[in-house]
Amino acid sequence: EIPPPLDVDPARRIFGLETEFGLHLDTGAGRPVTPEEVAGHLFHSVVQWGRSSNVFLPNASRLYIDVGAHPEYATAECDTLTDLIALDKAGERIVHDLIAGGEERLRAAGVDGTIHLYKNNTDSAGNSYGCHENYLVRRRADFKAFASALLPFLVTRQIVTGAGTITRTPSGAHYSFSPRADHMWEGMSSATTRSRPMINTRDEPHANAELYRRMHVIVGDSTMAEPTALLKVGSTDLILRLMEARVPLPELTLAREMQAIRDVAHDLTGRATVELADGRRLTAVQVQQTYLDAVRAHVGGLIERTDEVDQILDLWQRGIDAVRTQDFSLVATELDWAIKHRLVMRYRDRLGCALDDARLARLELAFHDVSPQRGLFYRLQNQGLVRRIVSEEAIEAAKTRAPQTTRARLRGEFVEKALASGRDFTVDWVHLKIAGSSGTTVLLKDPFRSEDARVDALIDLLETV
Ligand code: ATP
Ligand code: MG
Ligand code: MG
Repeated sequence: EIPPPLDVDPARRIFGLETEFGLHLDTGAGRPVTPEEVAGHLFHSVVQWGRSSNVFLPNASRLYIDVGAHPEYATAECDTLTDLIALDKAGERIVHDLIAGGEERLRAAGVDGTIHLYKNNTDSAGNSYGCHENYLVRRRADFKAFASALLPFLVTRQIVTGAGTITRTPSGAHYSFSPRADHMWEGMSSATTRSRPMINTRDEPHANAELYRRMHVIVGDSTMAEPTALLKVGSTDLILRLMEARVPLPELTLAREMQAIRDVAHDLTGRATVELADGRRLTAVQVQQTYLDAVRAHVGGLIERTDEVDQILDLWQRGIDAVRTQDFSLVATELDWAIKHRLVMRYRDRLGCALDDARLARLELAFHDVSPQRGLFYRLQNQGLVRRIVSEEAIEAAKTRAPQTTRARLRGEFVEKALASGRDFTVDWVHLKIAGSSGTTVLLKDPFRSEDARVDALIDLLETV
């Protein structure tokens, strides 16, 4: 028997972030090693305790090896942005903690090398990966129209939340807002492999399907700075709040989304225009400002004013202003593209080289190294050159502790107790199950519910049988 859904405040939302990491082995001469072999050694300890390279962790998040030997970490369900950021950062540390064991296993297999994990968006072979954002929304008949209304926002938000990158072309290199933009092929689709949509419309809510859908945004870059994550997820949430309350948004439908996302990505001046379906031409700065103004008009009313909302709006405005005025210092300690731009340009000037110099490519890669000591982003952050949103303590705690206000709490507790009991179990986003016996599966269809007597009983069963 499944408990009835909670009376959920329409402003409450479930968030999840998935990150695919780039995996690289630095090795001298020696036998060639495939990425699959490196990934296998990296995950050896995971398989040891989890009996699989696809596991749910005691912090209720998912860790696995995705196609192309990319380690992937998907945060558990969060209902606050600070929980989400801490849990996402914890994931970087969890995968980083696998490196020492992986290198040791490689040495035992005759390969001396250093493993690097990068939270970036493309690899040297030109494959694109990155970050998936998940937003729970209330089910509605017109989901496709609802989702497509978000596209002009997603196409242009890269001018604030893009990761920034050096783009190489046959005629030289330039700095652009987003490495992912060039890899998008269509606005929406339910497939991820054959097509490259911005929103994946596959209907897999991981929740009561009569009530909810999971909006699966796959156009975003993986980013390093905590304030960038706050703005990326926070601004999208605010737009969704208006849309879910059926506030009419400004009419900004784009004539050609794919052309627009590329044009916006490659124009750091913010002056290039995109064509709207109604024939107007606007800059990305104008489009983003229109969305920000639409949100602002409802703060204090539909959108409750909180410190966090104020922080999001302030950073959003400064991000737009930075592009409009070309004064990137307005956000150079908060937004990924600007942090990296400053770093890259300083080195270019110091080296007196061109932007397509291989040393700058290595610098960019090192920026994304998840190592808290070696990673260039973390060196900047450790020097106080990047603003923080969450504390070190919160990130450390999130490595082993699930968010306490969502379904994740139930999963986290079950995983922890099941591991301690030594019994076989299986878990996914909606199921908890003790293997082998019948009547021992619990279905958790309500991601907002953090307490459930059925789970308590299941945990008791672990300890008694
Ligand atoms: P793929 O990796 O192929 O894109 P996927 O997106 O379906 O698959 P996962 O990698 O398992 O699946 O990640 C699911 C993400 O969705 C997690 O971050 C999780 O926290 C989040 N999530 C789970 N349930 C919900 C929900 N009801 N609403 C919104 N997000 C959810
Ligand atoms: Mg995934
Ligand atoms: Mg996904």
